[in-house]
Amino acid sequence: MGEFDLIAHYFKRPARRAALGVGDDCALLAPAPGMQLAISSDMLVEGRHFLSGVDPARLGHKSLAVNLSDLAACGAKPLAFTLALSLPHVDETWLAGFSRGMFALADAHECELIGGDTTHGPLNICITVFGEVPQGKALLRSGAKPGDDLYISGTVGDARLALEAHRGTVSLDAQALQAAQARMDMPTPRVALGTALRGIATSAVDLSDGLLGDVGHVLAASKAGARIDADAVAARLGIRIDTTTLPQDLRRQYTLAGGDDYELAFTAPASARDAVAHASLASQTPVTRIGSIEADAGLRLVDASGQPVTGRFASFDHFA
Ligand code: ADP
Ligand code: MG
Repeated sequence: MGEFDLIAHYFKRPARRAALGVGDDCALLAPAPGMQLAISSDMLVEGRHFLSGVDPARLGHKSLAVNLSDLAACGAKPLAFTLALSLPHVDETWLAGFSRGMFALADAHECELIGGDTTHGPLNICITVFGEVPQGKALLRSGAKPGDDLYISGTVGDARLALEAHRGTVSLDAQALQAAQARMDMPTPRVALGTALRGIATSAVDLSDGLLGDVGHVLAASKAGARIDADAVAARLGIRIDTTTLPQDLRRQYTLAGGDDYELAFTAPASARDAVAHASLASQTPVTRIGSIEADAGLRLVDASGQPVTGRFASFDHFA
């Protein structure tokens, strides 16, 4: 199977919303009047972002999910995406699984594949997503204000737990392992929540490298600080696990700095608590208040009784 047959067979589908899809030199995409395009790319490298031998359908899901998560963080609605793929060889079983997993998520979000590039090389997947958001309504990292509440969606730390189980540093029973692996391989991009938070949230970011580091980007962009209840965060580990298997310090480590969560962290004024609760309900996405924004720069971690929590919670950095 050659490059063009491969594209035609696994990646070309009739264009829907796009004016022109796969097959020409460019795709054509028109944003609706009054809308801005929101654009983001994420690259996944074998051995860096996913384990070699991971199920291809799960990898197809994750490759698109991490990109949709960026649109969610901006409050944008997905429209289309491109796929640049580097493959070590043509493995039709792999391609069938990968495209199935990717298109299942794409179809759930009505996000169409409009083009890409396919080359021979180490396994590497780069997706660019295009979304739309009403002019001036995108959620930015820079809008958090002192006094705002700080929230996270869903659960955190589960993907890190799966990674540690893979590394052999924690041992999980079969059920917990399966649940943790599903969270690592098949993250749920919080698109419905992101769009529901337009006009309510003052800032947002998606959690990819670890909660504290990602919230740190919001604080830097907003020129503010925050107080975070470490125990409120630790309580949002999604996998049920006792303290003998996972001591409290590791639970804090995984939830505060675990990475690969693809949840949203966002801020909103205290006066908007009802509106946030409504957005959560409307999008069927649980949210938890984990702290507040303060004028003093820096992150202050406290426990449930308000006492400072010490410890190093480094987020993931490819070059640190
Ligand atoms: P060009 O040589 O002009 O870059 P290509 O031969 O690389 O074009 O690609 C042919 C067509 O197939 C283009 O429309 C391109 O967008 C599309 N395409 C290539 N690879 C992929 C892929 N992995 N997924 C979707 N579309 C792809
Ligand atoms: Mg090309």
